[in-house]
Amino acid sequence: MSNHDQIADESSDTALDYQRLQDLNTAVQSSMLCQNCALCCDGTIFNYVEVSKQEARQLEGIGLGLHEDKKGKQIFNLSCPKLKDCKCTIYPNRPKTCVSFHCALTRSVMNETVTYTDAGAVVLEVKKSAAWLLQNAPDFVKSKPFYDHDSKPAKLLAMWHDDSAVRTNLRQILYEVRQEFSAYPAAQDFTETEKKYIFKAFEHLKLVDRHLTKTKLLLRYAELVNRIHIANDGEC
Ligand code: SF4
Ligand code: SF4
Repeated sequence: MSNHDQIADESSDTALDYQRLQDLNTAVQSSMLCQNCALCCDGTIFNYVEVSKQEARQLEGIGLGLHEDKKGKQIFNLSCPKLKDCKCTIYPNRPKTCVSFHCALTRSVMNETVTYTDAGAVVLEVKKSAAWLLQNAPDFVKSKPFYDHDSKPAKLLAMWHDDSAVRTNLRQILYEVRQEFSAYPAAQDFTETEKKYIFKAFEHLKLVDRHLTKTKLLLRYAELVNRIHIANDGEC
């Protein structure tokens, strides 16, 4: 091998090493992002996780309460009881659905189209709007039935205010709110507080849909926003 070849080989090795280092860096950053986020585990963007029948027994063995949905699928509701301080406490044994899920934001960090800092700012913004929506949810959702992690019927509000395990499921709450508001006969029937909630939910869902995961709720809230705008124009 000539000296020339050796130098060429060494420089391609350096390029490879650099690439590996870059890949490692983006993988670490994406994992750090998740460790400070947990929006896909805490009920903000999904309301349940489906698990395979093969996994069900093992997961129940480690205390993850499952129940069957209307279609016979094995699911557990979010927020996940195995989530503690933003961390998955059964990480090596978590369901396959959790292992394979990467939101659009983590993928953007991994392929370097979004910086770690910018991604962190998005997570913070979503958390802020989620907290507002939870805190200001209309009274009627507070008595809606839901299932707790022991598969017993519970009330949504009871779940939020259970200090021993704060369980929130904003995704389910926004679904229930939308169902209720869609049944209002006229857009003029909305109070100012309700309108504010609908607009805030719409903004929140836009953020989720744009940065994390596509959500059908966005279109449904867009319909509500549209009804309100049309009614307001009619009044003018
Ligand atoms: S929502 Fe995305 S960034 Fe947040 S924990 Fe889940 S995969 Fe990670
Ligand atoms: S099992 Fe772990 S990864 Fe899956 S939802 Fe629960 S906390 Fe999140």
